[in-house]
Amino acid sequence: MNESLNGRRQFASDNYAGICPEAWAAMEAANHGHTRSYGDDPWTQQAADLIREVFETPCEVFFVFNGTAANSLALASLCQSYHSILCHETAHVETDECGAPEFFSNGTKVLLLPGNNGKIEPASIEPMVKRRTDIHYPKPRVVSVTQVTELGAVYSVAELKIIGQRARELELKFHMDGARFANAVAALGVKPRETSWETGVDVLCLGGAKNGMAVGEAVVFFNRELAAEFDYRCKQAGQLASKMRFLAAPWLGMLKSGAWLRHAAQANQMAQELETRLKELPEIQLMFPRQANSVFVKLPERAIEEMQRRGWWFYTFIGQGGCRLMCSWDTIEPDVRAFMTELKEVLAHQ
Ligand SMILES: *Cc1c(COP(=O)(O)O)cnc(C)c1O
Repeated sequence: MNESLNGRRQFASDNYAGICPEAWAAMEAANHGHTRSYGDDPWTQQAADLIREVFETPCEVFFVFNGTAANSLALASLCQSYHSILCHETAHVETDECGAPEFFSNGTKVLLLPGNNGKIEPASIEPMVKRRTDIHYPKPRVVSVTQVTELGAVYSVAELKIIGQRARELELKFHMDGARFANAVAALGVKPRETSWETGVDVLCLGGAKNGMAVGEAVVFFNRELAAEFDYRCKQAGQLASKMRFLAAPWLGMLKSGAWLRHAAQANQMAQELETRLKELPEIQLMFPRQANSVFVKLPERAIEEMQRRGWWFYTFIGQGGCRLMCSWDTIEPDVRAFMTELKEVLAHQ
């Protein structure tokens, strides 16, 4: 038990949580004997087949170690160095990947679009594409969305269809950062296909780690032509696991039993519980609508300090007084209650 976290389940991030039982059991089940390496094993084959089944379409699937690699290699495979990628100004590919999308694409420029709650405003796409059409401007090539957004919002199917339509009209490819795709599917109550390829998404980076796996994301090319030579890209970037079965097998555990959506729904429900209880406090202001597994809330500066002093961990990077409370697959109601009890005490003593 880590003393600095008081052994508590925290609201800092869904990657603070451990490995869910289904992913762990699937790893264990794969841990027998010898098998072929570099993805030439039955687990990798089965996991890719299962992803095709879950999305109800033929697609090319690659397993990589993390989301930064998934996004940046996927984007690089859509672009030449003289192209540009349109994304929201708060997008992970822009703010949290240390320039990896630009690096792996040899200099593709990222162009930033506005919009509420981390969602791209569809009407902003065309002006950005048409702002310049001359040879001196990096040619727009991809629009990238994050589902769930960095500010906790979920694109509806209709919103994604509009972006997909714009992308087609403007000859852009459509990329989705789905680090929390499971939370979006659970929140929307739709089929995975309805919020991915049916809206025109060409490539989805499907998150595993925040959903309850130890490590790993899947890059899913619905537009299979775009996957050409992607295996070389992965290898060159150090993303081809030699013992691939251990990146692939957890997906079997997650997807076979529906655990991925059960865990996502649990995280979403706990965030809803937090939101309900926070709304009962008059001194609290919610910053964005809660739609998935995070709640963004403005707290008095001294309350933040006191909660942190009492051993609660959460992120405060959203400006002055902005706190992100993120629920995980293993967050349970007593965690929410414990946090709220202390928060009420702290606010009462301000
Ligand atoms: C966590 C996250 C990722 C993946 O990040 P890694 O740390 O590289 O695995 C990608 N996109 C979003 C929106 C995320 O929240």
